[in-house]
Order: sequence, then structure tokens, then C-alpha cells
Amino acid sequence: MIEVKQLVKSFGPLTVLKGVTLTVEEKEVVVLLGASGSGKSTLLRCLNFLEFYDSGEIRIGGQQIDPHKTNLNQFRAEVGMVFQHFNLFPHKTVLENLIEAPVHVKGMNVAEAKQLAYELLKKVNMQDKADVYPDMLSGGQKQRVAIARALAMKPKIMLFDEPTSALDPELVGEVLQVMKQLAKEGMTMIVVTHEMGFAREVADRAVFMHDGQILEQGPPSEFFENPQHDRTKQFLGSIR
Ligand code: ATP
Ligand code: MG
Repeated sequence: MIEVKQLVKSFGPLTVLKGVTLTVEEKEVVVLLGASGSGKSTLLRCLNFLEFYDSGEIRIGGQQIDPHKTNLNQFRAEVGMVFQHFNLFPHKTVLENLIEAPVHVKGMNVAEAKQLAYELLKKVNMQDKADVYPDMLSGGQKQRVAIARALAMKPKIMLFDEPTSALDPELVGEVLQVMKQLAKEGMTMIVVTHEMGFAREVADRAVFMHDGQILEQGPPSEFFENPQHDRTKQFLGSIR
């Protein structure tokens, strides 16, 4: 589904991704771990073409993507992204947030987009809040709306960048529950998270980044029980 080869990305003199190679299969759930600054967000942002990489290759669904030539809107629609800070449009209602991109990017008609939006709001258990503004919602509710909004583009892949890190602890569970359900339904997902319970229970694979490279990866059972590298052990020790 996603193939990343030797991806390199610098910001000025700072090389942040130093040759990342990663393949994610259809329906696979990958949890991406690593210390602050290791390049996790940058990798996700390259996969969603929010950042242009310097060299390397990204293939999605078998098609190689050249950010300077390919129609990126099509691929941005295929790769949904959920951020730590929700990024909802504050001056639009929940429903308007959900229909914005399907109507204006994909050209879906408004009635169809609304119907899809209501279905998705039901899925994340937010059907009662269609007409309120984001300000009126708790963090957990905002994040569930943000997930529904990403799903409204019918993506093939969902990227999550610390979706629960900004939430009060009692709100984390409701968001993880929605993500678990998505995984169960067969969504291909890459999730940056510090929620180790989620990683152990839901992920097919844990991938550990260190200093712009993938240092170690494996099934959660092996990865958490028997990490190979000292860096990985140190990291796991620090978050347990
Ligand atoms: P965290 O766990 O803190 O979110 P991360 O693993 O997501 O960290 P990134 O956000 O990918 O790390 O950042 C990797 C490095 O790239 C950091 O040193 C960061 O300061 C730098 N960086 C990220 N974005 C930019 C940018 N737009 N301009 C300059 N430097 C950047
Ligand atoms: Mg980050």
C-alpha cells in the first residue's frame, strides 16, 4: 500500500530524515515510536505531501509519486491525516467541517457529502453535535470529529500524529476506541503515539525511529518484550 525508499529530508543544514525505508501493507496498522525530534512527524508529513522530501521514493498503491509532477490533491485525498491539535475550522460547524473537502476538493455534491458526513458522525458517536461549533466540544469530541473529517475523503490510508497527546487522560479512551474500530474494519494506518496499550493491542508492527532512521521494527510482542538495540531499550524504559 505504501512503499517508502531511502527518503531524505532536510530543513536547511539539518537533515531530519536520513534514508528512511518502510513498507506498509494494505490493512496493516503500524505504530511509529521514537524520541522527540527523531523525525516521526516529518515522515508522516512527507507521506501526506505536506512537506516535499529531497530524495528517495514514495509509492502509494503501486504508483510512484513525484511531488513536482503528480496531481497531489488526488493523493492527499487518499492519505487522511489526524493531528495532535485537531485543526478543525473554528468558524464552521461540525457538519460544515466534514463536507468542506469532499465538496470543494473532490467535487462531491452537497447532499451526498452531508449524507456521508452524518454516517461518519454516527460512526464516531458524534451525530448529536452536527450543528455545533468546535469551540463547544471537548478535546476528545474534537478529535473524533477530526477523524470523521479525514474519513470523509474516503482515504485508503490514515496517518495519526499523536492524536491523544493533547487530551485530558479521561478523554483518551474514547478516541483510541474509534481508532481501534477503524483498525478492525481494515483501515491501513500509521500511528505515532505514546499509548503503549494501544500499540500492543492494535498494532501489527512497531517501528522505532532514532535520529532520522528506522533503527528497529517488529511485531509488538517481540518489539516490546525483547528490544534489540540499546536505544530502543532506553526509549521503552523512559516511557514505561
Ligand atoms: P516529537 O516527538 O517532538 O513530535 P518528531 O519525532 O515528530 O518529534 P519532527 O517534528 O519530525 O520530530 O522533527 C524532527 C526534527 O526536524 C527536529 O529537530 C525539528 O526541530 C526539525 N523540524 C521539523 N520541522 C521543521 C521545520 N519546518 N523547519 C525546521 N526544522 C524542522
Ligand atoms: Mg512529532
